[in-house]
Amino acid sequence: MISGILAIVGRPNVGKSTIFNRIIGERKSIVEDIPGVTRDRIYGKAEWLTKEFRVIDTGGIQLADQPFRDEINMQVEIAIDEADVILFVVSGKDGITMDDEYIARLLQKSRKPIVLAVNKVDDFSQNDAIYEFYNLGLGDPIAVSAAHGIGTGDMLDEIVKAFPDKQQKEYEGMTRFCLIGRPNVGKSSLVNAILNQERVIVSDIEGTTRDAIDTSFKREGKDYVVIDTAGIRKKGKVYENIEKYSVLRAMAAIERSDVVLVVIDGETGIRDQDKHVAGYAHEAGKGVIIVYNKWDAVDKDEQTMQKIEKEIRAQFLYLSYAPILFVSALKKQRIHTLLPAIDEVHDYSVLRIQTNVLNEVIMDAQLMTPPPTHKGKRLKIYYASQVSVAPPTIVLFVNDPELLHFSYKRYLENCLRDAFAFTGTTIRILARERNR
Ligand code: GDP
Ligand code: GDP
Repeated sequence: MISGILAIVGRPNVGKSTIFNRIIGERKSIVEDIPGVTRDRIYGKAEWLTKEFRVIDTGGIQLADQPFRDEINMQVEIAIDEADVILFVVSGKDGITMDDEYIARLLQKSRKPIVLAVNKVDDFSQNDAIYEFYNLGLGDPIAVSAAHGIGTGDMLDEIVKAFPDKQQKEYEGMTRFCLIGRPNVGKSSLVNAILNQERVIVSDIEGTTRDAIDTSFKREGKDYVVIDTAGIRKKGKVYENIEKYSVLRAMAAIERSDVVLVVIDGETGIRDQDKHVAGYAHEAGKGVIIVYNKWDAVDKDEQTMQKIEKEIRAQFLYLSYAPILFVSALKKQRIHTLLPAIDEVHDYSVLRIQTNVLNEVIMDAQLMTPPPTHKGKRLKIYYASQVSVAPPTIVLFVNDPELLHFSYKRYLENCLRDAFAFTGTTIRILARERNR
């Protein structure tokens, strides 16, 4: 369960990206072959004291050819808009600068919890330097040396404490989905087309602070929320078109959704940027549907759909489980297929398989194709258990977890899909040593 988003702000060179790297740690991505997942330098995952949260380094979002103050304004605004907690970094080597004071004033106006880190305090015997930072009026400064990894534990303690307790799941009982994709692929048009369908009734959500950016509606007794419709529709701020910003926006929306619609522009075809955001949706373990929009604008014959489907499968290898829908927001073609697909994928992502049925499938799979031997040892699966949903996660109790190789995992995944489909959702398979 994700506690929320931390944004790091501060003037250049105080050590924001060094701190960012410390916070996200050297954890290797499990899925390194996904484009965009490891390359991204401004958005990461962190874990501290059993809490998991996301981190944004706003310093990585830059405006070309704009005055410095505009850039700082943008970074702080993004932090205030997107984050639950803000980490303000200053430099103990430089003392308080005018820019620090300026940022502090902007932050004081927000109602977000702020943690103040004084970086570059490399020698803790001389940490008197931090006292002057009380003058920023943001509470207790915490001395750290990101370069040497000193004080970062105390800083993380404060950060984790500052996250609001979200006991209740946001929009409990509703299906939460978002649309992601490059600018102009038709996301807003699709949202409008979905909301303007027959029997769809847009509702107000009471008692939430997010309702200004999300849109909830009902259809045939079921409740849905489109996450971040405002982010889709609102256009015009200078930074809205910066790719890193739109990626960050998409990441936050993905995090809050059950199902993600990856929208592709049929008029221009697949681009690299499409693959980056889709990679995040996969990595986050969300339900995924590929929506090929602007179908009306595609020159086609009887083979076109098959050909495009093949191309999508080749380009999005890791999304082989995602259904593909061909639609036109403009001509309202097949818009009615979207909500049933969202329902189906959501149902599969929270599907729980009975333990005895699951074990039957895994044991049969093992008998049909036994695991290959590795250095004279063979994997032996004793027992399987589904430990969680969204995404479905299955733990195999085995003789030696090291012996579960990628190809055999892939084989087991295929057997599970043959038996239970799991349409639109990734399946996580983990191996644990059976103690005995
Ligand atoms: P950013 O522009 O705020 O993201 O700052 P960077 O993380 O790029 O760091 C700027 C410079 O400060 C780099 O040369 C870092 O090596 C250095 N730096 C970062 N943390 C520390 C620290 O704790 N102590 C010292 N002495 N230097 C640091
Ligand atoms: P967004 O930036 O992803 O939200 O894209 P918009 O919904 O603003 O659409 C961008 C442009 O594509 C607009 O000019 C739309 O009219 C056009 N568009 C959207 N959907 C379709 C479609 O299904 N077919 C065609 N031909 N154009 C579309």
